[in-house]
Parts: sequence; structure tokens; C-alpha cells
Amino acid sequence: MNDQKVKINGARLQRSLEAFADFGRTDRNGVTRLALSEEDKQARDYFRSCCEEIGLKVKVDDLGNMYAMLAGSSSEPPVVMGSHLDSVKKGGRFDGVLGVAAGLEVMRTLVENNVTPRVPVVVMNVTNEEGARFEPSMMASGILSGKFDKDTMTAKKDTDGLTFLEALQSIGYEGDAKNRLTEAEAFLELHIEQGPILEKEDVSIGVVECVLGMVCYEIEVSGESDHAGTTPMSMRNDALFAAMDVMTEARGKLAALDADLVYTIGRVNVWPNIHTVIPNKVVFSLEARHTSADVIAEVEKIIQDMTVSPQKAACNVSVQKLWGRDTVWFDPALCRTFEQLASSLGYSNKRMVSGAGHDAQFMASYIPSAMIFVPSVNGKSHDEDELTSWEDCEKGVNVLLDAVLTIVG
Ligand SMILES: [Zn+2]
Repeated sequence: MNDQKVKINGARLQRSLEAFADFGRTDRNGVTRLALSEEDKQARDYFRSCCEEIGLKVKVDDLGNMYAMLAGSSSEPPVVMGSHLDSVKKGGRFDGVLGVAAGLEVMRTLVENNVTPRVPVVVMNVTNEEGARFEPSMMASGILSGKFDKDTMTAKKDTDGLTFLEALQSIGYEGDAKNRLTEAEAFLELHIEQGPILEKEDVSIGVVECVLGMVCYEIEVSGESDHAGTTPMSMRNDALFAAMDVMTEARGKLAALDADLVYTIGRVNVWPNIHTVIPNKVVFSLEARHTSADVIAEVEKIIQDMTVSPQKAACNVSVQKLWGRDTVWFDPALCRTFEQLASSLGYSNKRMVSGAGHDAQFMASYIPSAMIFVPSVNGKSHDEDELTSWEDCEKGVNVLLDAVLTIVG
């Protein structure tokens, strides 16, 4: 039996998601709302007005992070629901904004039911999660958690040469550093899955146990350019053919390592990239993700041991590690809470890992944090076809509401 009394308003949630999608809506019903753009400003203004309308107090920190607070009966550290309003270019209407609209809907539900929480409840819009305009992604949560240096980050430029700080100031969202989130009882993020698993398994709620650790390498294979017509095959040092052998060998070894390992060669550049010239240089990326640090270590060994085959000995391989991160585990007690609440609402749920990065993984370094996923139709995201059913959105927000009520009750 489901004895829950308070539920969110699904129709209202849908309306607010549709309203947010108006800020930067594309021809094909996606969204382009780059961080600190005019569209981002409009979405922020709308979020602020919705929050103020129901009596929440809105603060902004020096990174443009927004915090809308419902006061609690004590002023102890708050419970925070958060995600991001920015999108990639031609992204979807759910990635990030769902978590913010969810927080707003939970707030509306708390206010209309006259709930006075034990501690303050905050809904947070985290600046520049996507890193689509100013790299890297998860910039503001990275600064908040001490992973990134503020001055380095705010000097990052977009393709027009405008810095993050200039853009932040130009939309009027440079607030005060004293408003930063320094402590909280919990950080909860509802997000779309961005992958195909929940839909494929017909499960409504994913309880995210961790964000996968990963490594990213850049591999350069060098050879020699010669005329594509006059140089016999036996006398060539073709960098691309050598690179293909290196890739194939690495692929075979990685495939044999562990069934849960995911690995991608997502970028390949060839020089001089002219059809009449034998390539003299190939640079490609290779990234891999897995929960286990031991498996990642084996991946690194495979990459570092890459060599060209003896018949291509005149070609050279050099590898450079660009970056890596360890697996981030979310708070086990919060994961259990999410799981139990989803089950008691009668929603199918499963534990899973996140292959994508999220703000919650940085917040987890100083605040007990957890995430839930809702299904992505066809697993699509960062694309105008991104879709999550209204019903699944509503289920996710009901679980979030119950989690907040459980913690602050
Ligand atoms: Zn996102």
C-alpha cells in the first residue's frame, strides 16, 4: 500500500519544463542555452521569479551559482537539491534543467502544504555544468569543492575571446563569495540517465551508486609523407595504417579486460589529410571508464605499452596522459533512502553507475551526495531528440520530494 500523502503536481512540473525550454528553443524542439548566454540569463531570471513568487529567498554566489532557500525551523546546514540550467549547443530539454525544475516543484509542493522543514531546503542552479562555452565541464562545482582554482577558471575564454568572468558580469549574475555553499546535510541531484539502460530494462528510477573513474590519453603515431601514387607499398611509412594497427590491437586487449569497461576512440586527426599524400602523423584520443581503479590501471598499462608492429618499425608511437579521475562513490545511506522511497512509491528501480560526469560528483567530496536517474528515450542526450516521458519525470520528482521530506521531517 502506498500511504504517501503529499505528491508533486505533474502537470505543473510539465509546464515549468516547457517554460524553461522556451529559453533557447531550437527548430527541432531542442535547446541551445550555453552557460552565461542571454538564454541562460533568461532561464535564470525565470527561475528566480518562480522562486520569489512562492516566498523563497534567492542568493547568488561569486560564480553565478543560484540558491533559492525555504527557511527551516533551525538554521543548521541545508538540504540541497541541484542541477544545471545550461545546455550544450543543440542539446535537449531535460539534461540539467530537469533537476532544477524538480527542485522548484518540490519547493512549490512543500510551500502549498505548509511544510516547515527541520533545516532549510535549497534548490540550486549550478553554473556551467556543460563546459560547452567555457571549458572544463562542472566548472563551478569544481571550484566550490576545491578541485579547480577560481582565478584560472574565471579567466577561461569562449571562442569569441570573452572570459567567463566578463560573461558572468555581463548577464548580471556575479554575486558574493559569502553565499557559496560551504556545508549541507545532503546534496541531491535528479538527472536524466543519458544512456539506454533504464528504458531497455523498463525501470523508472536509477539509484546512482557512483560516477565511473576514467582516464583519457592522447596517442600520436608519426610516419613519413610521400606521393600516394609513386611510392611502392613496401617502401612507405604510413602513419595512418600504423595507427590503425595500434588501435586494433588496443581494442582487442581492452575488450578482453573486463565486460563492464567502456572505451572510446572519439577523436582522430590525420596529417596532412590530403588524398594524394601518405599520412605522416595521426593523433587520436583514447578514453576508458570503469568503477575499479585496478581495471583502470590495467588500461593505462595497455595504452602505455602501445607500439607499432615490426613491419612498421619506421613509425613511432608516443602516448600522453591528458587526465584521469577516480570513481566517486555516492553516500550509501542516501542511496538506500532513494531506493526504499522509490520502492514504497511502487516505482521500479535499480542500482546503477553513471558513465557521465555530474556536479554531484564534485559536491560529494564535501557534502553527503546522491543522484537518481530517470529514463532517456532511446538513450539519447546532448541532442535535440533527447526525451524523457512526463510520467517518468514526475516519478523522479516524487522520489526527490520524499527524500527531502525524509531528511527534513
Ligand atoms: Zn547534465
